[in-house]
Amino acid sequence: MRQLTCVEKGKLEWREVPEPRLAADCEALIRPLAVARCDIDRFLVSGAFPISAPFALGHESVAVVTALGDGVRGLSLGQRVVVSFQVSCGACGRCRAGFSALCEKLPVLSDYGMQPLSGVEYGGMLSDAVRVPFAEAMLQPISAGLEPAALASVSDNVLDGYRTVAPHLAARPGSELLVVSHGTPSIPLYAVQAAIALGSSAVHFASPDRESLALAEKLGARPIETDFSAKPPRTWPIVVDAGVTPAGLGFALRATEPEGVYQSASFYPGPPIPLPLGRMYTLGIRCFFGRCHAAALLPEVLRLIEAGRLRPEAVTTRVVDWEDALDAWPEPAIKLVVRRSQ
Ligand SMILES: [Zn+2]
Ligand SMILES: [Zn+2]
Repeated sequence: MRQLTCVEKGKLEWREVPEPRLAADCEALIRPLAVARCDIDRFLVSGAFPISAPFALGHESVAVVTALGDGVRGLSLGQRVVVSFQVSCGACGRCRAGFSALCEKLPVLSDYGMQPLSGVEYGGMLSDAVRVPFAEAMLQPISAGLEPAALASVSDNVLDGYRTVAPHLAARPGSELLVVSHGTPSIPLYAVQAAIALGSSAVHFASPDRESLALAEKLGARPIETDFSAKPPRTWPIVVDAGVTPAGLGFALRATEPEGVYQSASFYPGPPIPLPLGRMYTLGIRCFFGRCHAAALLPEVLRLIEAGRLRPEAVTTRVVDWEDALDAWPEPAIKLVVRRSQ
């Protein structure tokens, strides 16, 4: 079968690789129909993390089930599913507690399409077939009427944006909220969408990037153009920090009101960044860090989408055919989706 493969830093190829096979009763095989490019994918290809061997690309997808182990319940052949980008068992203590990103059975960062992070090759979604080791935990069926390309990013970036706001708006219903975007913008834009869907009375979006600001405004946010060098214009009870720069992080912390919530959806590579811990202590800034838990969150995010309250396709800026994936994958776009018919 064919698999889009990163063969070395900056170089992609369609490679012929062996078809995966079912190896246990709890497994499934899927055929990806639509694949979205995650905010991390261009970093992976650029060699931001050391590349020791060729690796399969793509981890956000909607797929069709093509084979099922005898022990799998609740799924059927031909069904369309959203696939958790993280591999998780659904049965260990952490999975059952909702912390499926940290499944006890697997190495940390066990994700599709991210072999450089975990050291394990689970396959990538830009392939003709992918093995799913724990089908019941990792696959969530979607209604036949939903368009795969519209939901391609749900398995990761959409639910990542959602989880940055959902628990905090549940605790402080109707709160105004600030999203600080200082890296790749799709997670913060999905956070805007989710915050509006969940009843925030006003969502503000701070960024230096005019294209992101315009899209955020179209989604219903109030734009704040800034390079983060000046003080935030005010403070908010909930602040989402999504980016990669110390300046953006500092802006987000300063924009959080006393006893307010600072929620990070950021990975900061490189040397440690100093934090204003004295101010954070004095003002009682409540900080939340950590990855999203894909398998655990998929059912509740899909309920919002099925109800028409979240429309992830509104963030998609480019859709290409499967055959064009190799050329399109490294090119800039807020949200790229690759699709095929069947
Ligand atoms: Zn991702
Ligand atoms: Zn587990």
